Amino acid sequence: MKVTVAKNSGFCFGVSRALNIVEDLLKNNVKVCTFGELIHNNQVIEDLRNRGVKVVHSFSDIKSSLVVIRSHGTTQEVINQLKRKQIKYIDATCPFVKRIHDIVKKGCETYDILLVAGKRTHPEVEGICSYFSGKVYIFEDLAQLKDIILCREKIFKTVNSLMVSQTTFSVEKWEKCVKFILEGFTNIKICDTICNITSLRQSYAEKLAKTSDLIIVVGGYNSSNTVKLYEICKNHVQTIHIEKYTELKNYDLKKFNNIGITAGASTPMYEVEKVINYLNCMEEAHT
Ligand code: SF4
Repeated sequence: MKVTVAKNSGFCFGVSRALNIVEDLLKNNVKVCTFGELIHNNQVIEDLRNRGVKVVHSFSDIKSSLVVIRSHGTTQEVINQLKRKQIKYIDATCPFVKRIHDIVKKGCETYDILLVAGKRTHPEVEGICSYFSGKVYIFEDLAQLKDIILCREKIFKTVNSLMVSQTTFSVEKWEKCVKFILEGFTNIKICDTICNITSLRQSYAEKLAKTSDLIIVVGGYNSSNTVKLYEICKNHVQTIHIEKYTELKNYDLKKFNNIGITAGASTPMYEVEKVINYLNCMEEAHT
């Protein structure tokens, strides 16, 4: 059995940066809490929780801890409240997400409408939208974008709009949306804000899927970029999505000769290594 790990698997720059910030604080015995889970990976969150990092969801839960803002950022309201209440915080928002906040904030001067490609309930999308003062529409694919625009065609033909994306949005879906806008509208400014690391990860995973007979995607079920990797790979080959290597016992893997592994941006490489070890042990037991 050949096992190949896709390039760019595991922690991205923004996630590593946020985790390093928390690790440094813990080393200095600072009481830390995060506003929402720091990253979308249950194993990492559990480990941090065991080391005293509290996950809070309201200001009243903060007590005397220092708040770390997670890598995909938060809303302007949360930042304003932290300042108003004089709660100490460290902003670990990934610079690539911060860049979108800045584009959107500046866009308020020129644009009346903001179009955001992404998942409505994702905290990164909530954060992005909070920095715009005009009307905001969120869409998850070309069909939804068409619905939004074609029902209000007159408005979209006359006012200036800005279109951005969640950093982990699918490159393929984004390109289709961009094509639609370019064919019919000149007053919608398009800003490609998909994180380059995400697009590279997606393309390496897709390449591997084309040459494997099974892909194992490792990462949180609540991690949108991991779910996207799963969706991309399953278009080419049988694909399974797991959070932990122990889930592999539910699958008959002996029939596969060429297994590819990819992992989301919030997946620690030690989880990938556990998967590799499991496959190696399975192989040894088989021979
Ligand atoms: S995926 Fe990209 S934008 Fe998101 S945290 Fe990682 S580096 Fe930052």
